[in-house]
Amino acid sequence: MKLQEGKCLDVWIPRGLVSSGAEILSAFTSAEGLCALSLSWEGDQITNLQPIQTEPVSSLKMLLPRFAEPHAHIDKAFTWREAPNLNGNYQEALETNLNEQRKRTLQAVYLRAERSLSLAVKNGYRAIRSHVDSFGSCTDQNWEALLDLRSKWNSLIELQLVALVPLEYWSTEQGKDLAVGISAVGGLLGGVLVPPFDRKVSRNLLIQMFKLANQLGCGIDLHIDESQMQPAAGLSLLVQVLDHIELDVPLTCSHSSSMGLLPSRDLRYLAERLARHQVKVVALPLTNAWLLGRKERTTPVQRPIAPISQLQEAGVTVAVGGDNVQDPWFPLGNFDPIALMSLSLPIAQLAPWKRLGLAPFTTSAAAVMNLEWDGIIQIGCPADFVLLDANSWSEALSSPPSREVMINGSWIANRSESKNNLIEFLG
Ligand SMILES: [Zn+2]
Repeated sequence: MKLQEGKCLDVWIPRGLVSSGAEILSAFTSAEGLCALSLSWEGDQITNLQPIQTEPVSSLKMLLPRFAEPHAHIDKAFTWREAPNLNGNYQEALETNLNEQRKRTLQAVYLRAERSLSLAVKNGYRAIRSHVDSFGSCTDQNWEALLDLRSKWNSLIELQLVALVPLEYWSTEQGKDLAVGISAVGGLLGGVLVPPFDRKVSRNLLIQMFKLANQLGCGIDLHIDESQMQPAAGLSLLVQVLDHIELDVPLTCSHSSSMGLLPSRDLRYLAERLARHQVKVVALPLTNAWLLGRKERTTPVQRPIAPISQLQEAGVTVAVGGDNVQDPWFPLGNFDPIALMSLSLPIAQLAPWKRLGLAPFTTSAAAVMNLEWDGIIQIGCPADFVLLDANSWSEALSSPPSREVMINGSWIANRSESKNNLIEFLG
């Protein structure tokens, strides 16, 4: 549905998301690093970008590239009502999740995943990487529903799928069969490495998994060190394995939460080793802040969270993801990238007016997901963006603003009736 015919907009764009050029250097820039620019497009591409000469700039809206969500679980999203975890701890989240899995139907997965994609598109995402419960009787139906939806929504959003299983599964015959199937549909291999674990056993399991990934050409995305105990036990083991095996596929470490509890010198050493092995990290501050470090009648003052800044400093690409949405692991969330930025600001002290505070939600998320477009706005890039009804970061993040979304040069509406509009857009 087209909202307007105009092919030119005067907007604020964060300086860190505009390719540097002489024309940008002369643009008026706000204290929050927003550049006042005039943007033109033809068809599905940006054709011009130049500084706005006319005042005032105070009424301009903010324009951002469409976002990438590097870590979600759309097969279990919105299950909180039927499977609440009122104590909010890791163990009960796991048990509640497993109980919910036993009752799952194909239709339920389809509905919740489609609701996730619909919200994500309306809120401004262009890609989502979802981990998929792939162990036990619900596996086939989960993949059937999500692969079907991946094709259906392909023109609006890219869906990447990661098979989430216990690490040891990849060493079994069924696991190897599953991996062949995952490879055939362009998926990634996932797994969980959280202490306590036997180092020798886990080392062999990682080696087996990496060999399988190499053989099939599947990327890897692990849930690792989502814990407050034995800081970075999983990551330390992982880099030791990487020292001895050549991994030919991209490797992402999601969570990496307990690494933040390491003494600074150990932390820096590990971060440098991760950078050397080109391991990418997805920090998930919301779920971590809710689930980890719990102790009865105690407010946690020490929070396990991936050390985002220190990892960036060492040269590691770090993205921030939303993780769970209204399921046993986390009771909130709505596939809204602006709400994610807003909540992450105080938890992780990530300020979007700083380049490294904005990158985890934009360019680094695109890099972790190996997306074709890096998210930098420049002539020739896709006309794929979100226009926020806000003229500063402070306003945008204080309450999620209304917004318009442009996909391939066409606007879609973001109103309450927009589910129908989206379907109309899908044709
Ligand atoms: Zn997760």
